[in-house]
Order: sequence, then C-alpha cells, then structure tokens
Amino acid sequence: MTPRTPILDEDDAPALFAAQDLSVVFDTRRHGKRTRLRAVDDVSFALRQGETLAVVGESGSGKSTLARGALRLLPSAGGHLYLRGKEITGLRGRALREQRRGMQMVFQDPYSSLDPSSTVVNLVGEPLTVHDRLTGHARRRRVAELLDQVGLPPSAVDRYVHEFSGGQRQRIAIARAIAIDPALVVLDEAVSALDVSTQNQILELLAELQRRKDLSYLFISHNLAVVRWVADRTAVMYLGRFVEVGPSERVHHHPAHPYTRALLSAMPVPDPVVQKQRRRIVLAGDPPDPLDVVTGCPFRTRCPDAMDVCAVQAPEPAPVEGGGWAACHLVPLTGAASRPRTDVTPTMEEIPCRPASPAASSTTRST
Ligand code: SF4
Repeated sequence: MTPRTPILDEDDAPALFAAQDLSVVFDTRRHGKRTRLRAVDDVSFALRQGETLAVVGESGSGKSTLARGALRLLPSAGGHLYLRGKEITGLRGRALREQRRGMQMVFQDPYSSLDPSSTVVNLVGEPLTVHDRLTGHARRRRVAELLDQVGLPPSAVDRYVHEFSGGQRQRIAIARAIAIDPALVVLDEAVSALDVSTQNQILELLAELQRRKDLSYLFISHNLAVVRWVADRTAVMYLGRFVEVGPSERVHHHPAHPYTRALLSAMPVPDPVVQKQRRRIVLAGDPPDPLDVVTGCPFRTRCPDAMDVCAVQAPEPAPVEGGGWAACHLVPLTGAASRPRTDVTPTMEEIPCRPASPAASSTTRST
C-alpha cells in the first residue's frame, strides 16, 4: 500500500487551497492492451494565502499533470480539492466556472499558449467578458490598467500578440491570469522558456504582484535554482508522488531524500572554485516503468543509498529536522523532528479548509 503524505508539513494554519489524496490517471496501451497510468498518485498539499509552493522534479515526474488536476483542467481519479474552504471536487458547469475565477494558470511557452493573431485587448479582456461581462470602453480601460501593472505600456492594447518578444508575451499572459483577481495562480514552468535576464525580470514582477495582491503561487519548475529564491516551501516529486516537502531553505541546504540530493548536485554553481569541489551524484539505473506495479520505494532502482528493505517496504513520510518531511527509510535515522507528526493521514477536522456548509461537503469523485 502506498503511504499517504501529510497535507500540511508544519502547522494547521488555514489554507487557501488544498488537495487531499489527489490522483490523476490516464488510459493508455501497452503491448496492445488497454491499461491505466497513474500520473499523479495520492498527492496531498495545502497552500496558504500569499504563499508560494514550488513543485520540482524531472520531466515526466507528474508535476504539470498535478497542476492541471488541481485546477480541474484534468479529471481526477480520486481525492478532494478545496478552495477557500469549499470543496470543488465535484462541481460542474456554472458552479465550477465561478470557482475557476479564483484559480488561474500561466503556461510555459507564451509562443504556443497565446494566439499570436489576437490583439492584446481581446486576449487579456476575454476573462473580463466571460466572468464580469465587461465590454467596450470599460473592458479596454481595465486591460490598459492590467498592462500597466505588468510593466507594459497601456498603449499596447491594440497591438497584436505576435508583435511582442517572449518576455513581453509572458507579461501579457500574466496580465490575463490576474485580470479577474484570482487568489491562486499556477505558474507551469512560466520562466523556463526565457533567457536568464528576462527570467529575473519576470520573477521580480511575480514577486511584486504577490506582495500587492496577496496572491498564492503554485510554482511548477524543473529548475531548483529558480525555486530556491521564489518559493516559501518546496515539494520534490518523483513518479507521481511527493518524496520530500519542506521550507525551501531547508530543502536546499539540508536535503533529506537521496533524490533531492541528486537533483541539487546537478545544479550548476556560479563560483567555478566551488563548482570544481562539488561531487555530482549521478543516478545509475532506470526509473521503473510507470505502468508497472512498484513494490517498495519507487526510487530504489536509481538510489545510491538503497538497502534491502527498500525493495519490499515503501517508506512512510517522516518528519525532518528544520521542517517538512521526506519519504525515505533513512530519514527516521538521520532526521529528528522538532514537532513529530505521526498522523500522516489527516482527518477532516485537520484539513485546514473544511467545507463551508453541509451542502458543500458532498463529494463527487470525478473519473
Ligand atoms: Fe533510497 Fe531506500 Fe530511501 Fe528509497 S527508501 S530513497 S531506495 S534509501
């Protein structure tokens, strides 16, 4: 049985958004037979107002699927989602649309995610029309304000998207995402396609918008260096599951899981002397086929520290000194928690965003 992961790693402060035991499954074919791939497997997390939670991992780890599942852009195969205390798991139609305005997304590649033949006023103004029925001069005025907020001249309203550079297009995407005042913005590799100097400018813009609007960010990235500076907490994902979660500084300076250590060792360091002294952990072996049933620790085929027990017993999430937890048999031996938390499966009482009313608590599991 897969151990369940804690929904919160530190305290029970109220959450803006929470996912409990979220699973996303794809139908696929193997050797001509239909089979199911668990791209996200019983993942739980909570996000506080104004907080940034980064989800990092290699390509194919399931982090983008997790983001889409959390926003209900993909159907979930199990689990519960809560926004501002209301369960949104089974909402449909208008009720879902109303909740969606609180959760927006910025995608990786502004060249493919934004229609190049659209004008800025149409693109940024679309959510204003759909959700607020704003049209004409009022919509145009609001789009000009939004452009100003993201560092573009308000006079750009009538220009076409294809006239802008990659960094400017990502500013347009951000303006569209914040147009209807969401509380949560999911940034799916939002700076990965940009050069380093443009990346920094966009990250500064995101930080400023977060301060001004008290936004929460779910920051999906393969780049641990970027994550360290922008995220309050970091979750490390491997084969559809979180393997380590904790305050970003602790995860970067004192990683507890061998996979996190390997990811960090592959990060280049600007100082050539320090870079020369570093030992890169090269992961030998292949990840298991995600279509296979995995026994024991899913990382054991690549783990430099694997032991006999790792082949037969899946590790439980264990608290780590400095905050957070890691799912590794070695952690209880090496990491001591300041406040041990054994209740890894929270009760409804503990979920920081409980359903607002009995009616809201009824859950429909979408498949
Ligand atoms: Fe490595 Fe075992 Fe820890 Fe898994 S449980 S990460 S195989 S040491």
